[in-house]
Amino acid sequence: MTSSTSGNTALNAERRTRDIAELSEAEASGAEAFDLVVIGGGITGVGVALDAASRGLSVVLIERGDLASGTSGWSSKLAHGGLRYLAKLDVPIAWESAVERGHLMSRIAPHLVHPVQMVLPLHTHVGHLDATLIGTGFLAGDALRMLARTPKSLLPRPHRISPAEVRRLAPSTTAAGLRGGLLSWDGQIVDDARLVVTMARTAAAHGAHIITYASATSVESGRVHVTDQLTGEPHAIRAKQIINAAGVWADTLSDDVELAPSKGSHLLVRAESMGNPTAAITAPVPDHFGRFVFAVPWDDGLVMIGLTDDPHDGRIPQRARPDADERTFLLDIINAVLEDPLSPEDVVGSYAGFRPLLKGKADSGADLSRKHALLRDPQTDLLTIVGGKLTAYRRMAEDAVDAAVEAAGLTAKPCRTTTLSLVGAGAPRPRLPEHLIRRYGTDAGVVAAYGADNSALNEPVRDGIPFSGAEIRFAVEHELALTVEDVIDRRTRWGLVDADRDDLAAAVRRHAPELIDATQLPENTHHNQDEG
Ligand SMILES: Cc1cc2nc3c(=O)[nH]c(=O)nc-3n(C[C@H](O)[C@H](O)[C@H](O)COP(=O)(O)OP(=O)(O)OC[C@H]3O[C@@H](n4cnc5c(N)ncnc54)[C@H](O)[C@@H]3O)c2cc1C
Repeated sequence: MTSSTSGNTALNAERRTRDIAELSEAEASGAEAFDLVVIGGGITGVGVALDAASRGLSVVLIERGDLASGTSGWSSKLAHGGLRYLAKLDVPIAWESAVERGHLMSRIAPHLVHPVQMVLPLHTHVGHLDATLIGTGFLAGDALRMLARTPKSLLPRPHRISPAEVRRLAPSTTAAGLRGGLLSWDGQIVDDARLVVTMARTAAAHGAHIITYASATSVESGRVHVTDQLTGEPHAIRAKQIINAAGVWADTLSDDVELAPSKGSHLLVRAESMGNPTAAITAPVPDHFGRFVFAVPWDDGLVMIGLTDDPHDGRIPQRARPDADERTFLLDIINAVLEDPLSPEDVVGSYAGFRPLLKGKADSGADLSRKHALLRDPQTDLLTIVGGKLTAYRRMAEDAVDAAVEAAGLTAKPCRTTTLSLVGAGAPRPRLPEHLIRRYGTDAGVVAAYGADNSALNEPVRDGIPFSGAEIRFAVEHELALTVEDVIDRRTRWGLVDADRDDLAAAVRRHAPELIDATQLPENTHHNQDEG
């Protein structure tokens, strides 16, 4: 089977139906096997699909739920330059992060990854030695930025700032004992789920078949068995190489994969409860040099406070939340630098995810390796790509496709993803609404066009929820939203605010009556599982 480049970036229910029919036809007619089947529609899987399709390989990606419904939709949304790894003297990982952050911000997705200012307040409880060491780490991080050729016009050099400047950027910082601060810059992903969906659309434009709500039930050499989660129908797809990008669930597809998942939790508060900061606050975790809790302002009037890092045993739920201890830990650390402490009542939403860490040292989650690895299952030839982090997805994908090409003897062009821009990158048309440009790049024009035809679609869902009917239609017709929850949880992030969920869901049902509720999906779909 050869790869086709349709150039069509619209992913929707009709295209999914056509893609499934094509797979059935290929299986029934005994057509040549696809070059690759990728299992998993998180950042790693869609990265692999894009890398492979853009090299001219024929690719099918199957995801058992929605795109980004695993860890990739629950991250801290930072394309970080690896400061944390520098603190542990893990220079190769820090270097990889700095290089990949540069690719993302400069060429791949400048419309979806923006610079964010990060201020580390220096209160008297941060000793002079610690402050000097942290400052030196920032300078080392900046040296990596320079070596990675990320311009300082994009990520300016870190420097010391006055107490007044700290409080201008982060007004809720307590003035008592404030000696000044360290200001640095990093990459902030507008929305991790949007990055994944946009990458999937770009892969589809290069000919990849992207099929969500399709679960891999078993793998044998050269064939993967799949159940359509919407109809219950079984399918089989033949491929010259099958790639397992199932993240923290990768061990369910191969006995050779051993993971040590670690849970990471976040809280959300309204920006006004922290004085509407324009910079992220970095609060040191006492007695853990190089470990911080961040309070990062999002575009939509929320501030995300994260992150915990705790080993997790047992079942991995698809939707998880911080437990009481994790909430207390996050609030305690951030409150240590705030004038008016946040209370549990200030928390308007929360979420947690699980890092797909490879089993290594029997150590705390915070110390397990963030390296990625390629593992081959001798029984099924399944190639697993796992570990790593969101920022490094491109490099992981390149390594996985290189390995697949070599193992299966595929004919492929060289990797070109360092310079391949995602859909929406580029200069948008003049006079488009700024808030749409920040979320959709040049596709803001396509979203705005819905409202031009029907001005009611420009109305926000509700006062205080700046998400419109036009965006809901775009999610359904271009971004493969198939359930109400796909829209409210992953095509916008307003679903994370508990009090807004019902109004949001009602608006989605009104503007997109063709969508089903996730509760209508079969019981075994992991999307029905909530840790509570
Ligand atoms: C709380 C938290 C915060 C983080 N913050 C950051 C950050 O700010 N920056 C950063 O760079 N990294 C961050 N990371 C790390 C990063 O999020 C992950 O490394 C990355 O998202 C993993 O992506 P993935 O595609 O490998 O896995 P996933 O996103 O989990 O994707 C795997 C997919 O496989 C699907 N799947 C599983 N089994 C099957 C099956 N049988 N059939 C079909 N599909 C299947 C799942 O539904 C899932 O969608 C964070 C991690 C956590 C936990």
